[in-house]
Amino acid sequence: MTLPYRIGQGFDVHPLVEGRKLIIGGVEIPFFLGLQGHSDADVACHALGDALLGAAGLGDLGRHFPDSDSRYQGISSLRLLEIISNLLREHGFKIGNADITLVAQEPRLSPYREKMQNRMAAALHCPPERINIKATTTEGLGFTGRGEGIAAFAVVLLLKKDGL
Ligand code: MG
Repeated sequence: MTLPYRIGQGFDVHPLVEGRKLIIGGVEIPFFLGLQGHSDADVACHALGDALLGAAGLGDLGRHFPDSDSRYQGISSLRLLEIISNLLREHGFKIGNADITLVAQEPRLSPYREKMQNRMAAALHCPPERINIKATTTEGLGFTGRGEGIAAFAVVLLLKKDGL
């Protein structure tokens, strides 16, 4: 018997720099630094996107949206989630649930959790209850603790209606 479940995990890091907006989970967060990257450098969307592609057995973000492609320069990562969502539907997958952990010393991200959850769920065409977002610090340790960057981890469970 094959189970109709597929698990996936994703991880992403971007450096914090001056002169960039801080966008996490599709939400612009007021802060004096922002994340550097080819797209909007949204670590939450990138970790989740990789987890979704991994669960579906469809590779990774870099394969679908290469840095070398100017179409993705400055693109909203919510748009990338939308494209991934369409891909999942084409392959017969539905999102069971996703759990994301954001790692940042500052700014405090917890006040923006609900907004992130709603925006990411809307991009994925799924109910917001299926997307859980947590925020933590590393108690000052490591690159996140020193405020050099922000990291995100994601795990997801996909469901396939007709089994695998
Ligand atoms: Mg990234």
